[in-house]
Amino acid sequence: MKAVVTGGAGFIGSHLCDRLVAQGHEVVVLDDLSTGSLQNLVQLEGSPGFRFVQGDILDRDLVDDLVSHADTVFHLAAAVGVYNIVDAPLRSLRINLHGTENVVEAAVRHRVPYMVASTSEVYGKNDADGLKEDDDRIYGSPTKSRWSYAAAKGLDELVAYVHGSESGVPCVITRFFNVVGPRQTGRYGMVVPRFVDQALAGRPITVYGTGTQRRCFGSVFDVVPGMLELMDTPAAYNRAVNLGGHEEVSIKGLADRVVELTGSDSEIVYIDYDEAYGEGYEDMQRRYPDTSLAKDLIGYEPTRDLNAIINSIVEHRRAQATVPQPA
Ligand code: UDP
Repeated sequence: MKAVVTGGAGFIGSHLCDRLVAQGHEVVVLDDLSTGSLQNLVQLEGSPGFRFVQGDILDRDLVDDLVSHADTVFHLAAAVGVYNIVDAPLRSLRINLHGTENVVEAAVRHRVPYMVASTSEVYGKNDADGLKEDDDRIYGSPTKSRWSYAAAKGLDELVAYVHGSESGVPCVITRFFNVVGPRQTGRYGMVVPRFVDQALAGRPITVYGTGTQRRCFGSVFDVVPGMLELMDTPAAYNRAVNLGGHEEVSIKGLADRVVELTGSDSEIVYIDYDEAYGEGYEDMQRRYPDTSLAKDLIGYEPTRDLNAIINSIVEHRRAQATVPQPA
């Protein structure tokens, strides 16, 4: 099988490429390296059938050409990270809306099964205990740019779904809940690698708000196999499926845990949302997935608890520190 992975140089995309290549598939990565890094793909250099193409998902002709030669498409390229979204809302809207439209339209044109990566952000301010795929979405005002990501991804799901149902081309929408693991960067937000880097460097750990907001972090090593299985499961076609973890923690609790597991003497400091993200930021207080649909479809069951997830990131960061990094 020949797979195109958009955003394959990113965190989740690169782990997906690892698996696809290990399974003997040909893989073409399309990535503009805006937030991804070639460093995430060095292990695949020289693997038979692996190819990296630097390019933009807004480039219709390029996308069309790559997709026309593929047997399957995984669309993960996106403008991600809260800092990215609030700093450049227009750019993130264009990439997340039109980029997805390009990829989906090309997949449907060439009748290539496709997966579109979505996010738990689409639930917005809905903080139900165990968010289910058909639950309502609650977005804030459009004047609050932080909602641009949620709104765009929500529309991406519709684009994927409507094209999939009208064309009959298999389509899977994966809704990721705070997926974390090695290679994720804290540069654009993403609290776990930020806290780990701060702890390892002995810098203050920056908890935003009161730290009582809660998240449930999922391991990339659980989520990526889940994505692959969903693509092989006709009952999953043309629906959105939650993928994530099971252990919930407050952000203050996460900071404590990172300090404990790294043996760091970093202090924990509290920073107002306005100072962290700019005025008027609205955070979600809770985001906990119901993954029973994934369980029913593919037997999905997260296998890594929060300590294992944090430890894998710490290990990776420590190993990275011993090799020269690109500038
Ligand atoms: N956060 C934090 N300190 C940081 C970065 C993030 O306290 O240095 C908080 C953020 O405000 C949110 C949570 O951690 O409440 C998760 O943030 P992330 O950007 O990882 O994902 P989100 O769930 O917001 O999409």
